[in-house]
Amino acid sequence: MTFDEEGARALDAGDPSQRDQFLVPPVPDRPGEELAYLAGNSLGLQPRVTAQRLTAELDDWARLGVEGHLEAERPWLPYHELLREPAARLVGARPVEVVAMNSLTVNLHLMMLSFYRPTPERHAIVIEDTAFPSDSYAVRSQAALHGFDPDEAVIRLRAREGEAGLRSEDVVTFLREKGDTVALVLLGGVNYYSGEFLDIPAITRAGHDAGAVVGWDLAHAAGNVPLQLHDWDVDWAAWCTYKYLNSGPGAIAGAFVHERHLADRSLPRLEGWWSTDPATRFAMGPEVTPVASADAWQLSNPPILAMAPVLASLEMFDEVGIETLRARSERLTAYLEQALDDLCGDRALEIITPRDPARRGSQLSVRLLADDAGDVARALRERGVIADARQPDVIRLAPVPMYCGYHDCWRAARALAEVVRARG
Ligand SMILES: *Cc1c(COP(=O)(O)O)cnc(C)c1O
Repeated sequence: MTFDEEGARALDAGDPSQRDQFLVPPVPDRPGEELAYLAGNSLGLQPRVTAQRLTAELDDWARLGVEGHLEAERPWLPYHELLREPAARLVGARPVEVVAMNSLTVNLHLMMLSFYRPTPERHAIVIEDTAFPSDSYAVRSQAALHGFDPDEAVIRLRAREGEAGLRSEDVVTFLREKGDTVALVLLGGVNYYSGEFLDIPAITRAGHDAGAVVGWDLAHAAGNVPLQLHDWDVDWAAWCTYKYLNSGPGAIAGAFVHERHLADRSLPRLEGWWSTDPATRFAMGPEVTPVASADAWQLSNPPILAMAPVLASLEMFDEVGIETLRARSERLTAYLEQALDDLCGDRALEIITPRDPARRGSQLSVRLLADDAGDVARALRERGVIADARQPDVIRLAPVPMYCGYHDCWRAARALAEVVRARG
C-alpha cells in the first residue's frame, strides 16, 4: 500500500464512520478545515445530539421546577436507571452490576473502601509502575488510611527491561509466585501510557487463585474494547466517560460490582440516601434498606445535567455496537501503524504499543528518538493534528473509530514525518 492522501480518502469512502454525528473542531485560522483529532483518549469529541439533550433537561427544569423529578420527559428520580442497560451492554455486565455515578477516582475510592480489606499478613496492593498518577495516589492513600506504609504496601509491577508495556503473563507469574501477601490487584484494562490491552480474564483468575480481590480501572478500555466483566469474574471496576465515551469534560463515571458481591452484607460501604431501596426512600427512615445491586454504592441524587450527555453517548454506542467499533478500530489502528512505519521510519521513532492488534485498543504510543514530545505536539498542532504529549519523549495517537478516519491517520503520520528528526 502507498500512503498518500488519495489512498486515505478512498479508504474513508469504503469504511464510513459516525463522524457526521460529531462536532469536529476546526483548524485555527483555516476556516472550513477540520482538525485531525487523535486525542479522543484524553477527551472525546462532542456528539451533535448532546446540546439538544442538555437543552431538553434545562427546558424541563424551567417548565416544571421540582415536578420534573416525576414529570420530566425523562423523569429525574429514576433517571440513572436509563443508563443501566446500555452501560451493562457496553462492559459485558448484568444490569444490576453497573451504576453511573461520581467521577472515576471517587469510584475507585468507594470500591476500595468495600473491597480493600487488608490484614497484617495480606495488605499489598498491586498496580503497574506506569499506572495513571491518580490511581497511584488513590491506592497509596488507601494503604495509609488502613495504617500501612504506602511505600511498603503498594507493589508497582514494572515492564521488562527495554519494554514499555507490562506483559499479562508477567503479572500472572508474579501473582502465582508472590500473590500470598496481595489483598488487591488494581490495573488499567488498557494502559493509558503504552496503550496495552491486558488479558483481563487471565489476570483476574490468577489474582483469585492467589486469594486477592481484583479490580480494574477501565478509563481507557470502556468504549474502546469489548469487555465481559461478568463472565471474566471481575470483582469490581470503574471507568470514566469523557475519553472514548465522548460524554464531556469531567463527565459522570461508571462502576461495576460483580453479582456475587451484591447481597454480601458484610462488605463495608459508605452510604447516603441514594443507597437505599427507592421503594421506601421517601419514607425518610433513619436507616438504609440496602438494595442488591450496584446502586447500593450510590450516595447522592444524580446530577441530571451531567448524566444527559452520558445517556446520549451510551445510546450511540448501543446503536453502532462495540463489536463493530472494535473491528473498525483494528483497521484504522493498523493503517496508522503502517503509515507511521512507511512515512516516518524507525530512525526517528519507535512504536511502543504492542504490534499485536489483540493486545491494544485504538491507540499507538510513539517514542521519539531525537525530539522532545512537547515540541513535537506543538508542531503537529500547527499542522492541524491534535495528539497528546507525555514528557519527555512519548506522543500518543488515538484513531477513535467513531469519528476518526484514514485521512486523519494519514495527516498525523505525514505531519509527524515532517517534524521528527532521525537519530544522529
Ligand atoms: C483519565 C484517567 C483518570 C482520571 O481520573 P478522574 O477521576 O476522572 O479525574 C484516572 N485513572 C486513569 C487510569 C485514567 O486514564
